[in-house]
Amino acid sequence: MNIPLLDVNAQNLPLEAELLETFARVLRSGRFILGEEVEAFERECAALVGAKHALSVSSGTDALLLALMALEIGPGDEVLCPAFTFFATAGSIARVGAVPVFCDVCPVCFNLDVNSLSERITERTKAIMPVHLFGQSADMGPLRELASRHGLVVIEDCAQSIGSRHKGESCGLMGNVGCCSFFPSKNLGGFGDGGLVVTNDDALAELMAQLRNHGMHPRYVHHRIGGNFRLDALQCALMRVKLPHYASYVAGRQRNASFYLSTLANHPLVQEACTADCCCVERQFERLHAAGTRLLLPHAYEYNEMIWNQFTVRVLGEGERERFRSWLTQHGVANEVYYPIPLHRQKCFAHLPAHALLDCPVADQLAAQVVSLPIYPELTPEQLQHVAATILHYLDT
Ligand SMILES: *Cc1c(COP(=O)(O)O)cnc(C)c1O
Repeated sequence: MNIPLLDVNAQNLPLEAELLETFARVLRSGRFILGEEVEAFERECAALVGAKHALSVSSGTDALLLALMALEIGPGDEVLCPAFTFFATAGSIARVGAVPVFCDVCPVCFNLDVNSLSERITERTKAIMPVHLFGQSADMGPLRELASRHGLVVIEDCAQSIGSRHKGESCGLMGNVGCCSFFPSKNLGGFGDGGLVVTNDDALAELMAQLRNHGMHPRYVHHRIGGNFRLDALQCALMRVKLPHYASYVAGRQRNASFYLSTLANHPLVQEACTADCCCVERQFERLHAAGTRLLLPHAYEYNEMIWNQFTVRVLGEGERERFRSWLTQHGVANEVYYPIPLHRQKCFAHLPAHALLDCPVADQLAAQVVSLPIYPELTPEQLQHVAATILHYLDT
């Protein structure tokens, strides 16, 4: 049995007739840039997140760039961000001329560790960019407290967590602006590149709408330099076909995660990553290692609505991850390492000032141990069973 990490056709082809009709409708409308389809999609996305404003943009990366530009972050500024995330988080900070200052993360939820943040604040710090990695929110309470104490803006990277919630609040609306992605592997996968910014701030929304279109307002009048960050009408129209199904996509991922967790948790060599109900307090790695644990399961804090963009386990022991990965691959189970090199160790950031590159031991450890397994909503019971059986079999060898 071969199980891919993601099967976009399994999600899109059941909607094929409706998608083709939609393509025909946009084709015949002759309206490809901005306009009704884009506005309707944005209204529907705003409703999904519960945001006052949602603006579609050309990618998740451009959403981050646009947010940074609108908040006037640039040369001389520093932005705190996690060392363990996708490259775009830090790449966008560097692209506006600011310095990404890499912070360590929580070993349980993999998101920003507030203790690590406060050690790295200087008088140049302007913003914090938390990432809600793998579908679960960062611990935003202490982070926001820190931000307001130091007068910092908060830009949430929600690329992997659109529609996810934290203590009843929506990811993307807990800071100044939230940045989402419709890259096909994200929970709301589009038909190419795409992204979204969400905010409850009227002035910021207005400014981002202008910057998305060369800073133009009104026509051919430019008070600021923006860019072309627009999302195609065609892409918006096609994604409108998928939006009504979003809740069921999320439910599918949650169902699959529950299956893995309940099937794997009883094995004596497997542990849940955490028993605490609070981020960044549980540091039981050494104890687990001593107890002979080989696999740590992902943990969703009770106060988070986890939407499982990835199901990421940690394989303990020198060289064990590579052995585990070959076993999975041999048995037809696709898998991937998100992310193998923490950002504070990337060559392109080597020139940054030393205090941007301080040690991030948890990020290093995660980069060496994590493996993500197939979790997409359309996995069949047989496929799920095969993945779990393959892992249990591995643990018994
Ligand atoms: C995917 C992703 C992005 C970038 O989104 P694109 O749409 O691919 O540009 C940014 N941050 C994180 C955490 C991501 O996972």
